[in-house]
Amino acid sequence: MKILIVEDETKIADYLKQGLTEAGFVADLARTGLDGHHLALTETYDLIILDVMLPDVNGWRILQSLREAGHRTPVLFLTARDSVDDRVKGLELGADDYLLKPFAFAELLARVRTLLRRGSGTASETTLRIADLELDLLRRRVSRGGHRIALTAKEFALLELLVRRRGEVLPRSLIASQVWDMNFDSDTNVIDVAIRRLRAKIDDAYPTKLIQTVRGMGYMVDTADTE
Ligand code: CA
Repeated sequence: MKILIVEDETKIADYLKQGLTEAGFVADLARTGLDGHHLALTETYDLIILDVMLPDVNGWRILQSLREAGHRTPVLFLTARDSVDDRVKGLELGADDYLLKPFAFAELLARVRTLLRRGSGTASETTLRIADLELDLLRRRVSRGGHRIALTAKEFALLELLVRRRGEVLPRSLIASQVWDMNFDSDTNVIDVAIRRLRAKIDDAYPTKLIQTVRGMGYMVDTADTE
């Protein structure tokens, strides 16, 4: 899966490229609207992540000429703007989704995956399940044994990451980069606290513990209860 990122803000651009690469995608990065416009029209991508505010050619113009040229590549808009008009304009021009800055990487990744599934025409996976735990990705709801559990957005993102990569030990640094935003200062205690809160909600009342601590390495969700 190949993704084009068009973003002029260095930090966000580098963060997106690194995160998407770590998530297993091939990501090309264009740091100007002109470069992005050129790549979008000449190369083949499965998805384009397009910043709206670019100093030369803005995201709307790029999307417009892409659609006029007959390219149906899914486009995810990144915008710092919060007005309804801007969102409507983007969607009218043929954007498939938009995300407001600042965003959590896990949220972006979830949108990216949804758009890619839609684009490839396969049945979309909207529910993740492990044991009796269920995550409804569209409505952002969690239940265990049929009982609804209220989670914060961060807790949901953390649980979604762990469940998507079940059976895999995720280092704290990876969790930090995927669930917390780019300004996260590698204070891994934040992750330990978040895991403790998540456990209290989804594991404490149940005999089968899903969240495992792997000493010196990180955390993992698995059905084999090793503790
Ligand atoms: Ca920008």
